[in-house]
Amino acid sequence: MKTDTNSTIESFKKYVVPNYIRNAVVLTRGKGMYLWDSEGKRYLDLFSGWAVSNLGHCHPRVTSAISRQAKTLVHAPNIFYTEPQGALAKLISDSSFGGMCFFCNSGAEANEAAIKLARIHYSPQERYKIITMHNSFHGRTMAALAATAQPKYHKGFSPMLEGFTFVPFDDLDAVKEAVDDKTCAVMLEPIQGEGGINIASQEYLKGLRRLCDEHRLLLILDEVQCGMGRTGKYFAYQHYGITPDIMTLAKSLGNGTAIGAMTARAELAKSLVPGSHATTFGGNPLACAAGVAVFDTIRIEGLLENCSEMGAYSMERLNSLAERFGDLVKEVRGVGLMIGVELKKEGMTVVKRCMEKGLLLNCTQEKVLRFMPPLNVRKKHIDEGIAILEGVLKEYQQE
Ligand SMILES: *Cc1c(COP(=O)(O)O)cnc(C)c1O
Repeated sequence: MKTDTNSTIESFKKYVVPNYIRNAVVLTRGKGMYLWDSEGKRYLDLFSGWAVSNLGHCHPRVTSAISRQAKTLVHAPNIFYTEPQGALAKLISDSSFGGMCFFCNSGAEANEAAIKLARIHYSPQERYKIITMHNSFHGRTMAALAATAQPKYHKGFSPMLEGFTFVPFDDLDAVKEAVDDKTCAVMLEPIQGEGGINIASQEYLKGLRRLCDEHRLLLILDEVQCGMGRTGKYFAYQHYGITPDIMTLAKSLGNGTAIGAMTARAELAKSLVPGSHATTFGGNPLACAAGVAVFDTIRIEGLLENCSEMGAYSMERLNSLAERFGDLVKEVRGVGLMIGVELKKEGMTVVKRCMEKGLLLNCTQEKVLRFMPPLNVRKKHIDEGIAILEGVLKEYQQE
């Protein structure tokens, strides 16, 4: 290894909190579908860093929007108006359900805002409980963490914030049973990401919408991972013919620039009166300019169509792998380019070996390989990735 690679890793070991398991790779550069490390090795990125780099790395339109904005105005306090924030709010509203936006800096913060909005809205009735789903993931801050129904993430952080009730995902009756007179909202990912690419059924989401209407509950959809075109529509809920009351976004909203957003129906949004909620950096011109460029790129480059086409192509290729490696692969499931390949054995070995061979994928819930390439991926990249994956599966099968 080169000395600068070593010295970077050494400085992390000394000076950076060790809360991540990191690969011994220093990434230095990205362009399109590819990343390069400090040794000059190239990686095909078919994971997009948890569906953040949805337009690939350093997309020229986003890069030039950021650099233009960086020369104009980087920060302005939220006691003033700024053009990029207004423009991005309109784009989110027009492409979803006509709501109003609150901007923040991450997915967890977007969910914190959603939880606070639901609570403040129903505070006159003292309704505060929120029903969330097993295997959900809503972030690591304390309220988002309390909403996340995976005990492994709670360990060591008790006491948890009160008021969350957990039920199995895709089980409408379980939600019905959990509702009581203190419930104010139901919160879920239409497609669970960390949970293993679990796709809500049509009946379930439609049933949840009806149930929420009957009991005047707010339906909060966390589209931090599945939103922004990942499934071939702007938002995953648009596959279901329903609309949420509140939706949260982050990950790819700025294609890598730190930004989160909560959007809520206008009547609801008004419950967040001045003084009730705020964040210093939320909606800053730099991040919002990146967000505007992301929306422009999706539209101009026809990326929803490309996502659907490349999603279908990927499913076809992965399903044919699944057939050939029937003793290894349990199931392939996905919508658009949000695809999980569930294995019968642990998947970290596959991810590690793919990385050695220059392909970035991910594994969640021990056995589910996540395949989430940028939305502007081409067949040749998918073919290149599948060829590497196939080689790795061949080896793994013989063990
Ligand atoms: C990643 C993620 C979050 C948390 O986002 P951060 O930006 O890491 O705080 C919340 N919800 C979902 C569905 C996610 O995938």
